[in-house]
Amino acid sequence: MPTNEIPLNDLQAEFQSIKHEVMPAIERVLDGMQLFLGPQCHRFEEDFARYCGSRYGVAVSNGTDALVLALRACQVSAGDEVITVANTFIATVEAIAQVGARPVFIDIDPQTYVMDWRQIEAVVTPRTRAIIPVHLFGHPVEMQPVLDIARRHNLRVIEDASQAHGATYQGRRVGSFGDIACFSLYYSKNLGAYGEAGICTTGNGELAETLRILRDHGSRVRYQHDLLGMNNRIDELQAAILNVKLPYLDRWNARRQSHARAYNDALQDIVEQIPVARSWASHVYYVYVIQVRERDHFRNALQQAAIGTGVHYPIPLHLQSACRHYGYAPGSLPITEAASERIVSLPMYPELTGEQIERVISTIRLSRVTRATARVARTI
Ligand SMILES: *Cc1c(COP(=O)(O)O)cnc(C)c1O
Repeated sequence: MPTNEIPLNDLQAEFQSIKHEVMPAIERVLDGMQLFLGPQCHRFEEDFARYCGSRYGVAVSNGTDALVLALRACQVSAGDEVITVANTFIATVEAIAQVGARPVFIDIDPQTYVMDWRQIEAVVTPRTRAIIPVHLFGHPVEMQPVLDIARRHNLRVIEDASQAHGATYQGRRVGSFGDIACFSLYYSKNLGAYGEAGICTTGNGELAETLRILRDHGSRVRYQHDLLGMNNRIDELQAAILNVKLPYLDRWNARRQSHARAYNDALQDIVEQIPVARSWASHVYYVYVIQVRERDHFRNALQQAAIGTGVHYPIPLHLQSACRHYGYAPGSLPITEAASERIVSLPMYPELTGEQIERVISTIRLSRVTRATARVARTI
């Protein structure tokens, strides 16, 4: 990495800081040659569930599979409807489609970008089986009203917490609210393996047992199959790496929050919108998303200065080609669509330095100035 580049996310910096613990952990697994569903997996399941304030953890192959398994364990199947948002990563909807169900999209809160629970009841039908609130960008969904509505209509709640490891709602960590919560442990997430991994948490022992059976070919006892499951196991190498990293998660999230405060202070008066954290939430800034006008100009200016930016996400799911058959027209989710045109993500990772943040901020200031000057020049 050239020294003057500020990437959107810097995984090398993280690895260098924990290499002295990761390498021996990998070696221990390989010396033991127990590669699946061994002590590292069990320790991680226990520790992560406890961390979330939940009872059971079932570690799996990735976050998408975690969602599929959760839907299957909740017996969501062909013909059922699942209420969720279009402002999420495609995996949320892929999982719903995978079990034969249909996603029903509702719009988002324009300030926090997460599900607006006020819209849920209008789309509940006799076919609705579950709600998937997505704790997006690191900000939790307002869970109490979601849980109340679910109870009233006898619906399951499956949290997609893939972007919010450690975030809290009313002082309680996400992953402890739904019937099941699903976390991706993809390498770029707040807590990530060095490869593919995911985990489901649940307070329900029966659901935990079903998840455990489903992830390992429907089997409790070798070559004896109670259900038609899948190969969705986590491997011991990834579990060992996650066991090294979990104790750092709170420290890393606190650093993300401190970076966000620095960005917020400097940017609140010069961009259209900075991230909002509700009073009942702690935001863990998986990504730091602002809104700007003239996004292409903005991103170009930062790219010229070797500063990475991203757009999470440029095309809402209901307007993706892959989702055309669900029949949502442009304009059907106006808040989601408007946000997708103005959002841009800035570099955000725990190891970001004060100096780097300053450089991002001064580059943004300069880009606004040059844009204003160009506009003046055009009008003369
Ligand atoms: C990353 C992510 C997933 C999918 O996780 P994978 O581990 O990549 O399969 C699902 N939902 C959301 C919101 C995500 O950000």
